[in-house]
Amino acid sequence: MNETQVLIAGAGPTGLMLALWLTRLGVRVEIVDPKPGPTLETRAIAVQARTLEFYDQLGLGEEARARGRDFHELSIWTGGQLRASVNLEGVGAGQTPHPNLYILTQDQNEALLLAHLKALGCTPRWQTELTSFRQDERGVTATLTHAGQTQTVRATYLAGCDGASSTVRRQLGVKLSGGTYAQRFYVADVTTSGERRANDVNVSLDDDQFLAFFPMPGLHRCRIVGQLPPGAGDSATFETVRPQIEKQRVAEVKEVHWFSTYRVHHRVANTFQVGRAFLLGDAAHVHSPVGGQGMNTGLGDAANLAWKLGQALRGHPAALASYGPERRPFALSLVSTTDRAFSGVVNPSPLARFIRTTLIPDLIRVLTRPRPVRRLAFLTLSQLRIRYPNSPLSAGQAGAVRGGDRLPWVPNAAGSNFTALGSLKWQVHVYGAASPELLTWCGQQNLPLHVFAHGAAARRAGLCEDAVYLVRPDGHVGLAQPHFNRPAAATYVERWLPGDR
Ligand SMILES: Cc1cc2nc3c(=O)[nH]c(=O)nc-3n(C[C@H](O)[C@H](O)[C@H](O)COP(=O)(O)OP(=O)(O)OC[C@H]3O[C@@H](n4cnc5c(N)ncnc54)[C@H](O)[C@@H]3O)c2cc1C
Repeated sequence: MNETQVLIAGAGPTGLMLALWLTRLGVRVEIVDPKPGPTLETRAIAVQARTLEFYDQLGLGEEARARGRDFHELSIWTGGQLRASVNLEGVGAGQTPHPNLYILTQDQNEALLLAHLKALGCTPRWQTELTSFRQDERGVTATLTHAGQTQTVRATYLAGCDGASSTVRRQLGVKLSGGTYAQRFYVADVTTSGERRANDVNVSLDDDQFLAFFPMPGLHRCRIVGQLPPGAGDSATFETVRPQIEKQRVAEVKEVHWFSTYRVHHRVANTFQVGRAFLLGDAAHVHSPVGGQGMNTGLGDAANLAWKLGQALRGHPAALASYGPERRPFALSLVSTTDRAFSGVVNPSPLARFIRTTLIPDLIRVLTRPRPVRRLAFLTLSQLRIRYPNSPLSAGQAGAVRGGDRLPWVPNAAGSNFTALGSLKWQVHVYGAASPELLTWCGQQNLPLHVFAHGAAARRAGLCEDAVYLVRPDGHVGLAQPHFNRPAAATYVERWLPGDR
């Protein structure tokens, strides 16, 4: 029987991210997938700023940025006429090192994660499926199937990153509650010519259909997403939808590289953890592609769970139970917001059509004019606003920053405060001056202490001068204290990171 610390079912983006983070922490990982290799289809195309921040922590941010592309404008069309255009260039400036909206296809994300994983000596076992498992107090025993042969693996923990039809979830008996839309959709990756706004995201809101065009990396490459015409069945091809696309006069399609139809679900697993088994990514939540959140949410799940597994494997499992309470509320709110947005976009009622084609373009033009509105939309879409205020790990407030918040980004002459997060370790941040008592305590606790200037950027970010921020390995603030309170800090450390520095 093979033994490992974490068995990961599924080498999609979520499983690869988890494997990479764990491997960086020195955890022994076995990752299996029935596919012959990584995804070759482009599938997800949006990579949000929060994901790029995690990539920076893992040392692959620059490479990810170099492989993809930004887009700067969102244009709304009806009846072939441009109705509104929103400039999004640098919309997140001052909030994150990645202030633009960014496109990097799923196959490219997977290739990047896989290359870095392999460089650390961990290679997924392809054509290998997890078929069953059982768990006891000390671990999980799983049966894998490869080329008709079965094999048993014993692991301390199991991560179900095995997608929407997750075997792990089914075997745990966890329900994926929610529903499925009646409408069918398609995606097409194409080469175009005669585009009217080739570098924009073009959204066409017409009476009877929804169509969106996304610029892709590569010359004249474009992703089209739309609703299949009524009556079009499973055998629909690009030719079924070509007239609908050409009617929009946004772009002329020269070549079709990939075409696929799909149904959209809005579902969340009833729990993300049963004993030693966890659900992440599409295994835990599926929703409409509106807003490009799916892949990013899975990557965020992995960043949240990886360090907690790392601690648990070093004998400190207390933080592990916070994974579900932190990630499931976000998945629920995401599913309900994408659900609302999606329902509005595809609702066929005359009133909804009127709102879509007449009011929405004007509203978008007017509402997005003030910069703060665009910035708020960016912060939400980019997942920078994800916070865990109700987590048992979140405590205190100093300035505007509370336990559970993502640590605000503060640029400085040497780079930014985020450089320190590359260690993937708990750490203390002070913006201003650290008291001698804090210096001594951090030394005793073996906690890295980073002291930054409390300049204009720190002030704008809401960080309080001389306050103490105990930052988690995933860049969220665990404990915030306006003044160093040694007993409270010691209690927190004893509870959540005993001996784990
Ligand atoms: C057309 C399309 C467009 C999309 N656009 C976007 C977008 O713009 N932005 C965005 O964020 N998301 C988007 N998504 C969603 C995104 O693709 C998914 O959310 C993402 O792939 C989820 O990653 P995952 O690793 O959780 O699951 P998956 O990518 O589904 O990976 C699961 C893996 O588990 C493997 N597996 C299955 N069963 C087993 C088993 N028993 N044992 C071991 N392994 C198993 C599978 O082979 C697969 O490789 C899109 C999806 C589609 C289909």
